[in-house]
Amino acid sequence: MTVNYDTLIALQKVLAQMFEIEDKIKDIPRDLNDKEAVLQKTKLDYLDLSNKCDSLSNEVEDIYKRYIKAGQTKEEKEKQMELTTLSREYENLAQEIEQAKASEQNLLKVYNTRKKYLEELQMKLQISADIVASQTQEVEEETAKKDSLIAEQNQILEDIKVQRDELSKDLPNNLLFKFERIIRNKGGVGVVPIHGFICQGCHMELPQQFANDVRKDEDIHFCPYCSRILYYEPSEEDEKFEPSIHGDTHLEDEEGESSSDFISSDDNLFDD
Ligand SMILES: [Zn+2]
Repeated sequence: MTVNYDTLIALQKVLAQMFEIEDKIKDIPRDLNDKEAVLQKTKLDYLDLSNKCDSLSNEVEDIYKRYIKAGQTKEEKEKQMELTTLSREYENLAQEIEQAKASEQNLLKVYNTRKKYLEELQMKLQISADIVASQTQEVEEETAKKDSLIAEQNQILEDIKVQRDELSKDLPNNLLFKFERIIRNKGGVGVVPIHGFICQGCHMELPQQFANDVRKDEDIHFCPYCSRILYYEPSEEDEKFEPSIHGDTHLEDEEGESSSDFISSDDNLFDD
């Protein structure tokens, strides 16, 4: 059988579009899943930071209490000192007051340092909370949009399938199936010309008899190297055809067998 190559080329374009849309439909939930995974990670980071803030906040509060306590101890000892008359007790109190003062100053220093660190963490926590909020919003919006996006692409796909059916109505089902598979596997190009003996899909040199058969166009031929459908297109390489076109076949007796092998292997491809 023969086919109309212009129709095949038009069909090829439609099929490439069809596969692109099909891939797009698959990608829509995948993008959303990726965003959801990122959001989960951001939430964990936020929780981690929030726990750190809580425990640091408790620590700062505790230091502050100890600082106040040290101040109170100092004042109590000072009052006791005013009342005492015993020199030994007086000396002990003086020592205790010095210790309380040192402790008070030290605690104030630690308190200021830790409090500053706490404020930095709280600022980071606020930023983290903002990121969680915006990512949550994005995921929610896209989840809502997802179904309508898929429906929209499915509508486009339906229209493309109508065009495909129209263009392929004269093609046998198994040829259409094979053509679709070639287009999917060969980057959207499933039908290519030959120039001389060279397949313009994979640029391999075809056996001479086989190339002649393609030129005669009595049947569909698949490139034995890249499986694409081949058709003849005039080119500067045409002079290479001349010997066999003039019936000078005895030069190719050796190749006669191998070229028929190619044809039968195509038939196998065609059948599976
Ligand atoms: Zn090829």
